[in-house]
Amino acid sequence: MESDDRSNRLRTRCSHLGGRPEGNEPYVPPIVQSTLFNLGSAADAESIFSGERPGHAYTRFGNPTVEKLAEAISSLEGGGGALVTSSGNAATLCAVTIAMSGRSGKLVTHPDIYGGSHELLAILSETYGLQVAVVDPSEEASWLDAVRNAGAVLLETPSNPLMRLIDLKATIEAARSKAAPVIVDNTVATPFNQQPFQFGADWVVQSTTKYLNGHSDVVGGCLVKREKLTPQDRRVHKNLGGTVNAMEAWLVLRGMRTFALRMEAHNRNGRAIADWLRGHPAVSKVHYPGNGGKRQAEIFGRQMSGGSGFLAFELSGGGEAADRFLDRMQLITHAVSLGGMESLATRPAMSSHRGMDPEARRLAGITDGLIRLSVGTEAPEDLIADLQRALPGGTGAYQANGGKFEGT
Ligand SMILES: *Cc1c(COP(=O)(O)O)cnc(C)c1O
Repeated sequence: MESDDRSNRLRTRCSHLGGRPEGNEPYVPPIVQSTLFNLGSAADAESIFSGERPGHAYTRFGNPTVEKLAEAISSLEGGGGALVTSSGNAATLCAVTIAMSGRSGKLVTHPDIYGGSHELLAILSETYGLQVAVVDPSEEASWLDAVRNAGAVLLETPSNPLMRLIDLKATIEAARSKAAPVIVDNTVATPFNQQPFQFGADWVVQSTTKYLNGHSDVVGGCLVKREKLTPQDRRVHKNLGGTVNAMEAWLVLRGMRTFALRMEAHNRNGRAIADWLRGHPAVSKVHYPGNGGKRQAEIFGRQMSGGSGFLAFELSGGGEAADRFLDRMQLITHAVSLGGMESLATRPAMSSHRGMDPEARRLAGITDGLIRLSVGTEAPEDLIADLQRALPGGTGAYQANGGKFEGT
């Protein structure tokens, strides 16, 4: 019931993104596609630069359209303020830089964070000596111990691609012992299904490229703070430089109007497809948020109100069966990324995790027969027909023979 109330409130908020206009203002926020703004008199310029009165000077420092997007995302996450970035990775860089500034100790994270975040931390560590501890959260005692002694924490729940959940409440409480800021990458869960600030997270990072924009046509990101942004937060953001122009911000704002409606469909389809796959004889395992034992189910019940449309499944026929599946899909597209209205599939061992040592990869649960599926908003019976056709035992044509989806 509570989650229904919350999703209804999110629906209302999404319908009014950008705020109710005043006077004769346009209903849809204008695209202020200008790098610079007239500063007016010397006295006006002085009051803008000193922050005494609101105003704009240069789009990297601030732009009215971009600020509308920041307000909209902050309101969906329930935060005190947000900073918009040019990608999810730029948001992670900005959040880690702010969280670690003036702090000793390691940045604690886990092995199955997003591959790009991993690479980013490796570069920061090689170049600037950032100390990173990669700890397995399923060993809960050692994870919480590392968090208790952390300089800052960067975590992602559900993880990608195995959809493992990390207990936000326990982790954030442990981080309090040395006041370590906790950054939660909420891209996969989205604010529709999980609100990390309710558990005391300090920062939420989003790749708006995925569910928030939802149309697979903009790369973008955002970092949201539980408390109000400080001038120092804004200083780091504008000088790291990963800011955006008005046009991209406007597109994300437009995409977000249907965010709640899309998430209802992704949640419904994700669960239906996970359930259907579980009954298929060629599928040995299905990874969906809340699956994987009593503890995972308990964490799901406490911190998530839906599983979203992202899942993975294992084919008992291994890499060969997985490749055959990819070749035989006719509706689902073989492509990376997630969160759009179209369903997408990849084989992580061959794409996102191909750089890993094969044995380490297998130990991490990324088997050769693992398929990652971003379930879109199509009719579930069409998706099931495509899965049925492409999975071992199905009768789908090899796609290279010119097979095209013709409906069911
Ligand atoms: C895609 C993704 C990112 C990075 O976002 P970009 O917009 O590609 O830079 C970060 N975290 C997660 C969980 C993602 O899926």
